[in-house]
Amino acid sequence: MFQPATRGLRTRAIHGGIHPNRNRGATTVPLYYSSSFAFDSAEDLADAFEGRHPGHIYSRISNPTVGAFEQRMAAVEGGVGSFAATSGMAAIGALCGVLAEAGSRVVFARSLFGGTVIYLREVAQRAGIHVDFVDLEDLPALERALETGPRLLFAEALGNPRLDIPPFDRVIALASSAEVPLVVDATLMSPALFSAKECGAALVLHSTTKLITGNGTAIGGVITDLGQFDWSGHRSPAIAREVDRVGPGFAFLAALRRAGGLSAGVTMSPFNAFLGALGLETLALRAETQSRSALELARYLTTHDRVTDVRYPGLAGDRYHERAVRFFHGGSGPLLTFSVLDRASAFTAMNRLRLALRATNLGDSKTLVIHPASTIFHECSAEERDYSGVTDGLIRVSVGLEDLEDIIGDFDQALADA
Ligand code: PLP
Repeated sequence: MFQPATRGLRTRAIHGGIHPNRNRGATTVPLYYSSSFAFDSAEDLADAFEGRHPGHIYSRISNPTVGAFEQRMAAVEGGVGSFAATSGMAAIGALCGVLAEAGSRVVFARSLFGGTVIYLREVAQRAGIHVDFVDLEDLPALERALETGPRLLFAEALGNPRLDIPPFDRVIALASSAEVPLVVDATLMSPALFSAKECGAALVLHSTTKLITGNGTAIGGVITDLGQFDWSGHRSPAIAREVDRVGPGFAFLAALRRAGGLSAGVTMSPFNAFLGALGLETLALRAETQSRSALELARYLTTHDRVTDVRYPGLAGDRYHERAVRFFHGGSGPLLTFSVLDRASAFTAMNRLRLALRATNLGDSKTLVIHPASTIFHECSAEERDYSGVTDGLIRVSVGLEDLEDIIGDFDQALADA
């Protein structure tokens, strides 16, 4: 059932992509665990391959459950369509693969998730794509990079783990005048707390492993075309071909499905799409509760004498607070960082936690802690770690859905004599 963007986000997250009258009355997204789909005649099957007969052929290309999740995501984001991938990293790889090729350029914000940095260094750059890393606070540098004709500009809505927020209004003005599509990785915020469409982005990307699925059960990624970029002028040959075939409105999604699904086979599994679709139904409630608890934990940590620094954009004193108020709705998300004296103190405090789990991932219903310097960033250079604020004493916390008093009580006892 198409959910007009005039309906509220929570409504679209619950009703988007489901057609009870076509699914024997099922009120939740049905799980189609089938690799292939049969047709009544050889002619129909041939027509399906030619795109003349509607229907799913093979789940590497498309699947009804994955399709329902994609429609629900597109409804939530207010986009024209989505493509769901096996992981957030697969989504980033598919995106770069369709918009750029050897010899072309892409621009990435310097503040990035460690996995994205490693992908760019070990896959994209080795494949001959030139990557410019730009500090988005340095607008003249961004303008110069955009003048070189890059195929995309990529930024995180809230940098992981730097917890910085780009000046989106100025960034989008520069990207638009250079006719470069802005791609926002909004994983840390989810569509419940951040609208990439309102910011003027062309595409929005999420690791659905995080807040969208919400309980640490399934790896996934999703890209949504927000319908705000004219693909007819884009220089990717893969896009140009689809502009001729399906028109500019659906050219990006058609090229992505062809490159990511048909050719590379990074399509999300139906079961993970089923879990993602269920997760979306409670996303807004969870994201707001986790944001409230993260703010309270951040406030508590600022009062602790063993804590030397706390970063959370929801805190009134945080350097990105004004942008958080402007760009985020309903909270600043589950992620915060705090610093203690050194690595030994960080490990001691982490090992004393009794409730929070020592695990990677974020946006889970459980509170999780990690020491970025020795884990996510252990392969990054000292310069990359410095830029991202990853010091030896830094602990990253993803606040879960447990009772707030229990979360704060856990950190209180862990830091007592760290
Ligand atoms: N983007 C961001 C901002 C992330 O934090 C992550 C993972 O933590 C990813 C992308 C990659 O997602 P996945 O782990 O689903 O591949």
